[in-house]
Amino acid sequence: MSGAQLAPALLTWLQSHAQSLNQSADAAQQVLPQLVAAGLHRIGVPQALGGDGGEAIDAVDAIAHVAEHSLTCAFVLWSHRAFIDYLCVSDNPAARETWLPDLLQGRIAGATGLSNAMKFLSQLEPLQVEATPEGQDGWRVSGRLPWVTNLRSPFVVAAAVQTLQQPMPMVLAIDGRLDGVARSADLDLLALRASNTAAIQLDSVKVGPEAVLGRDGLSFLKRARPMFLSLQCGMSLGLARASLLAAEQVGSARDVLQPRIVRARAQLETLREAIRAGLESGRFVTDAPALFRVRLELAAVVQESVQLELQGSGGRAYLGDHLPDFGRRLQESAFIPVVTPSLTQLQGELSKLAGGAQ
Ligand SMILES: Cc1cc2nc3c(=O)[nH]c(=O)nc-3n(C[C@H](O)[C@H](O)[C@H](O)COP(=O)(O)OP(=O)(O)OC[C@H]3O[C@@H](n4cnc5c(N)ncnc54)[C@H](O)[C@@H]3O)c2cc1C
Repeated sequence: MSGAQLAPALLTWLQSHAQSLNQSADAAQQVLPQLVAAGLHRIGVPQALGGDGGEAIDAVDAIAHVAEHSLTCAFVLWSHRAFIDYLCVSDNPAARETWLPDLLQGRIAGATGLSNAMKFLSQLEPLQVEATPEGQDGWRVSGRLPWVTNLRSPFVVAAAVQTLQQPMPMVLAIDGRLDGVARSADLDLLALRASNTAAIQLDSVKVGPEAVLGRDGLSFLKRARPMFLSLQCGMSLGLARASLLAAEQVGSARDVLQPRIVRARAQLETLREAIRAGLESGRFVTDAPALFRVRLELAAVVQESVQLELQGSGGRAYLGDHLPDFGRRLQESAFIPVVTPSLTQLQGELSKLAGGAQ
């Protein structure tokens, strides 16, 4: 899909709604249906599992194309697509049979509440959800997921849970329609307000064996991580491209800034190629730090690109009604460093590894 255009209907909708999706939740119910109607969530999903097939990088490119117009929609697409990928890599066929057809049809929203798991693995905080055995193969689940996006009802959310049976977490899919699942009101976000982001309280929720995405959560997360992170990189690729295009178009400073614009564009292409090659070869499964570095570098290019847009625009960028796309992208870019795993977490992991290598 690289270089391809988005479907005209989706493009028109994104262009006319980008500002309001960032600033209000008014159109939040429409986000997932618009993306699903364009079929973007099926890209890169094996045909044998009901998807449209294609390469993994095609799914990254799809998120990048959406992010060129709206990071709110790109993040919703990431959530839905990442959950679909959890089902693709899960060794539990019952989980796939239970949710994949509905996710591919857009009848249910996929959400991923794994930031707690990422921090647990970095020894930054304990798991916040617990599960105890129930009946023969089921579990009772209680706890809290403080931040989850794409909670458009009905939804299913992935969470890492602590059990007494094993020291490492298990990863479960929890259907929002079950008794004991409570979604909060939308969080009062600075931006990305139509992303259906809320907290979830789990109060003795009974789940069956189909809910187990990964009994050995560590090995599951290692398998899921390359796509999880690569899809996130699509958000940075698209946002940076949009800012660079704007930086080129806005004004007379273009000549002064052009060398930096050209350099940033080249970096984006190099980093996209690194993602494509790493996904294709499977390298990121065993060499996660290579992907961490790509995400860190992409985040830096996003910051540079937004700065170039600002510097190309000058004072006009500060007038609320002159260049609203700049204001939106400035806010959207503030999300890139904190999306799980945050840049702080990634830098911490790389420092730990560098320390261990000495
Ligand atoms: C709009 C929005 C939507 C979100 N949606 C989701 C979602 O769908 N699913 C989900 O799971 N989460 C979601 N989140 C949560 C988000 O992923 C968290 O913000 C992210 O995990 C960063 O964690 P943090 O806030 O603790 O900050 P961090 O960046 O982790 O760091 C905060 C502090 O912790 C310390 N720290 C971090 N790492 C280290 C380290 N290695 N060593 C030492 N100290 C360290 C630092 O001192 C830092 O000051 C969302 C957040 C936002 C804003």
